[in-house]
Amino acid sequence: MENIQRSLVLIKPDAVERNLVGKIIDAYEGEKLKITALRMITVDEILAKKHYEEHISKPFFNELLEYITRSPLVAIVLQGENAIEKVRKINGNTNPEMAEYGTIRKKYGIDKTKNSVHASDCEISAEREISIWFPEGVKK
Ligand code: ADP
Ligand code: MG
Repeated sequence: MENIQRSLVLIKPDAVERNLVGKIIDAYEGEKLKITALRMITVDEILAKKHYEEHISKPFFNELLEYITRSPLVAIVLQGENAIEKVRKINGNTNPEMAEYGTIRKKYGIDKTKNSVHASDCEISAEREISIWFPEGVKK
């Protein structure tokens, strides 16, 4: 049975700054994931806190906030078969040092915070995150 899902991806500031947007999008499109929405935005603190609300009490939160708001990022909705797991696999481990070879974070990630990409971790977060970044809605 088909399991078409959506995932919210961010190409984070460290990757946009180093001109990696095309290479990163290519990795997703090459795995049959379809872009159904895309925008570039410099995030303010309010939006960043909404997106990362589960991490507000973490010791790394301030560093994360400063990084994610420092320059433009690219927000994307990807749709496809098992998109949630597929995208997280393409991205790799949160810590680039631990990420598998060939993953985006292994190739491009700088450190545990500046790890180039975000992807939703389940369908509920995906829908929550899509509504944050694309409040106008995204057609399935
Ligand atoms: P993921 O992005 O893989 O889902 P988390 O949801 O745990 O990872 O964390 C969200 C983001 O916060 C990470 O992508 C990374 O930018 C940052 N982060 C996570 N853990 C740490 C850490 N231990 N130290 C510094 N930054 C971190
Ligand atoms: Mg996460």
